[in-house]
Amino acid sequence: MTQRLLDFLNASPVNFFAVRNIASALQLAGYKHLDPAQPLVQMETGTKFFVTKNDSSIYAFHLGRKPLSDAGFHMICAHCDSPTFRIKPNAEISCEGGIVKLNTEVYGGPIMSTWFDRPLTLAGRVIVRGDDALHPQTLLMHVKRPLMQICNLAIHFNRQVNDGVKLSKQKDMLPILGIINDELEQGNMLMNLICETLHVKKEEVLDFDLYLADATPACTFGPHDEFISSGRLDDLSMCFAGLEALLGTETTDTTKVLAIFDNEETGSQTKQGAGSPFLASLLKRIAWQQSGTEEAFWQAIERAFMISADNAHAWHPNYGEKYDPTNHPQLGAGPVIKFNAAQKYASDAVSASVFAEICCEAGVPCQRFVNHSDVAGGSTLGNILASSLPLRGVDMGNAILAMHSCRETGSTTDHAYCVRAFTQFFGR
Ligand code: ZN
Repeated sequence: MTQRLLDFLNASPVNFFAVRNIASALQLAGYKHLDPAQPLVQMETGTKFFVTKNDSSIYAFHLGRKPLSDAGFHMICAHCDSPTFRIKPNAEISCEGGIVKLNTEVYGGPIMSTWFDRPLTLAGRVIVRGDDALHPQTLLMHVKRPLMQICNLAIHFNRQVNDGVKLSKQKDMLPILGIINDELEQGNMLMNLICETLHVKKEEVLDFDLYLADATPACTFGPHDEFISSGRLDDLSMCFAGLEALLGTETTDTTKVLAIFDNEETGSQTKQGAGSPFLASLLKRIAWQQSGTEEAFWQAIERAFMISADNAHAWHPNYGEKYDPTNHPQLGAGPVIKFNAAQKYASDAVSASVFAEICCEAGVPCQRFVNHSDVAGGSTLGNILASSLPLRGVDMGNAILAMHSCRETGSTTDHAYCVRAFTQFFGR
């Protein structure tokens, strides 16, 4: 089970690949890829389909025996984007000695120092000329070898480096790509890589969304392989647990929904993010197809339950003072329900009770997280979704250390627990 997660993480260096890999797994399991530009027809018992948006968000539906209006729906949502660095347009900077570095822009909130001195590669999508201007072609690109590195300054030039260093996103975080061999490479090093990797001509390439990605594969560590070390555990580990649960359950009375959003790390306010009306519109269209009324959608909302799955902070043995005095989620001790009095998280006593009962039914322990009151903490999908889908729901996630590091640390046991809890939820 852990190996499947590691394989998914390694095959999903950025959001576009996560969506493509989830789509492939769904198709193998008999889910049909529907085009939202066409009417959503044949919304019958057991129908399985999915829809994508922008190649970077994906929504899977397994219709229940009862219509949405009678049984509502059970939804797990998560996000497929993670903090990284985006390659800027005209990115190549030629330096002394023929060294080429790349101009980048920060995506989300990475712990920037963790990106230093490790082999990195490129992943994302490249847009090439299509049949007409409005319909260019999208090609996904992942160079599966170390390609560049963001190098630290030697300690001899900065004796204070271990006392804390302020980093400039524009100066310090630019990766070294290569050394120019001949004049033809001048200004073309990145483009040559794109063309070689995708077997396209330079004139065909219109633009790209390319990002830095860790080139070192995800792995387990610890005497009992109890830990997982990987980039993007937040939130690909939750995406994958949701997918495993969806594919592991048969048709039930209630419709199952797996919603994987993009752009959580930058506030969700895009057409493919949780702030978009896209998912609500899909549910409305299904409800309309089944019942022929708008009323059916609102009935479904009242009967639905959502698990907003995004990783939580595990208790860090070196920094106990940063945590709430009485709530210490531990690695390996089960899924974590997240609370916030200011309602940054959707959980309340009712929805938390529902999730805790589901865990209990699944034979899985669960924990509770709340911030130290002097620490601001983060936010996630649940409440952003509530503006278009006023659902009863819980914010939860598996505990990890070093959230937003280039490599986060999770627990193999927690992954198994989470899949069991999600399967219990979808199997109801
Ligand atoms: Zn997250």
